[in-house]
Amino acid sequence: MLSVKNVVKKYGDKTVLKNLSVDFPEGKTTVILGPSGSGKSTLLRSLDLLVRPESGTISFPDITLDYSKPVSKKDSFDLRKKTSMVFQNWNLFPNLTVFQNVTTAPMTVLKRSKNDVEAQATKLLAAVGLADYKDRYPSQLSGGQQQRISICRALAMNPEYILLDEPTSALDPELETQVLLILEELSKNDQSMIIVTHNMEFARSVADKIVFVENSDILFDGTPDDFFNHPTTRIKDFLSGIT
Ligand code: ADP
Ligand code: MG
Repeated sequence: MLSVKNVVKKYGDKTVLKNLSVDFPEGKTTVILGPSGSGKSTLLRSLDLLVRPESGTISFPDITLDYSKPVSKKDSFDLRKKTSMVFQNWNLFPNLTVFQNVTTAPMTVLKRSKNDVEAQATKLLAAVGLADYKDRYPSQLSGGQQQRISICRALAMNPEYILLDEPTSALDPELETQVLLILEELSKNDQSMIIVTHNMEFARSVADKIVFVENSDILFDGTPDDFFNHPTTRIKDFLSGIT
């Protein structure tokens, strides 16, 4: 289980996360929903230490960090190894081939053997239907293909949790479907995931847990059944597009 407790993040005098506490169960898919500007990306980035909150704790069963205290390089490395982020605009390295995009960090950061990493990358690319594209450069691929590569790149780090921040919102609908199918497959295979999305149909089909964030606060933390089938007035408005 990944848990954060009493997380506070400010930008200047604006509080962006108001003392949030939430659990992200292992082997499950947690979907974070909420209007734009509510703090979803900030919360997700806090889990990967891309954002450093002012206070609160983040913990896995074997490691806990207090955001308000200095963190050793080793603890920071150990914690960051547990998660891998997939960005909205995939952020592939433009000067590396598809295969190099997937294999570089596991070898350089994790010091894994070339043979081992390359065998895994070959399997991952085949699983997303892009084995034939391994020697191309990102600019030669569609957005949907690049996002599938970026998912492979995240998985190649063998993280405990994959974090995805609006993974399909930059894609055309027909390219979106291919990416969503891959995420649904990962979810079925009990990959621990935390996904920020605006796609309600996808959220409904893939989520084991829903967290609804609004105005820097968690307004709902519970099951998809409660969220979608027994919504409060506020959630009903959100679901009908009155954000
Ligand atoms: P969401 O992902 O839900 O759209 P964000 O977490 O990106 O929301 O942003 C929450 C709030 O924090 C917004 O008001 C946003 O403008 C502000 N914010 C986010 N990142 C920064 C930053 N680096 N500097 C200043 N304000 C920021
Ligand atoms: Mg965001």
